[in-house]
Amino acid sequence: MMPTAFDYIVVGLGATGSASLYQLARRRAKVLGIDMFHPPHENGSSHGESRITRVSLGEGGHYVPLVRRSHEIWRELEAATGENLLFQCGGLIFGSTRSTNAAHGIEDFLQSTIDVARTHAVGHEILDAAELGRRFPQFKFDTDDLGYFEPEAGFLKPEGCLRAQLSEAQRMGATISTGTGESVPSTLRRVRLELTGVTTKPTASLVCSGTMGLRTGPQLSPYARAYRQVLYWFEQEGNAATFSPDNMPVYIRLA
Ligand SMILES: Cc1cc2nc3c(=O)[nH]c(=O)nc-3n(C[C@H](O)[C@H](O)[C@H](O)COP(=O)(O)OP(=O)(O)OC[C@H]3O[C@@H](n4cnc5c(N)ncnc54)[C@H](O)[C@@H]3O)c2cc1C
Repeated sequence: MMPTAFDYIVVGLGATGSASLYQLARRRAKVLGIDMFHPPHENGSSHGESRITRVSLGEGGHYVPLVRRSHEIWRELEAATGENLLFQCGGLIFGSTRSTNAAHGIEDFLQSTIDVARTHAVGHEILDAAELGRRFPQFKFDTDDLGYFEPEAGFLKPEGCLRAQLSEAQRMGATISTGTGESVPSTLRRVRLELTGVTTKPTASLVCSGTMGLRTGPQLSPYARAYRQVLYWFEQEGNAATFSPDNMPVYIRLA
């Protein structure tokens, strides 16, 4: 890598790092992005076919403006790259009125989502079991189920999002170095060494190394914990079109 003066160094180019790189490049910062693999790749958390996006987050109302802005950014990137990234097929969250519906560390995730939607004027419908059954025949509902439906929710294509942000960042002048394959401390040490003799030191290094960074940079472990995410695949019954994004929302079933 040629020694150059960078304002920022982004270590890790998954969902977090590629967004950071793109936003810094948009602001005309001189920015270097580094990844130990070649994103998008299967070794981190940002790969696969889809990631749910919701506007009303039961996790906290402070996220709502961030999600709204992110949807604007995805549409800007779609226009710039011609890739389809955001699919707003609607989102359904449902659970039993008799259970606590805890999720994502929130005691009553369904009620919290409804409260955030009301406070932040997020368009939504509250549906009882009969209405859920009529609108969404893909599911088997219990008689005491209650649902929150949000038309603006949907899913993103995570690998396309990475590709779009990295290519746009590069087009705006960002330098990208991938396949570096070393620990976070070694990466930062090497980059600092390579920059020795350069008058401008980076203003900041952004460590966006995800759960892998916890393994490769153990000094990060007091600040974050990695959780295993188990994937399930369900075989669909009946007409496949019923399960296409045109007819079916993304969903979270609370237990
Ligand atoms: C199965 C699954 C389903 C999910 N579903 C959803 C969902 O529906 N909606 C949602 O919002 N979120 C979802 N998430 C969470 C979301 O995908 C993650 O929060 C997000 O992808 C994390 O991105 P990241 O950039 O922090 O980490 P990563 O994607 O892991 O990226 C970290 C990058 O850092 C690089 N790296 C690590 N160490 C170094 C080093 N020393 N030097 C250089 N590079 C390094 C890695 O190679 C990697 O590219 C899901 C996650 C999983 C796993």
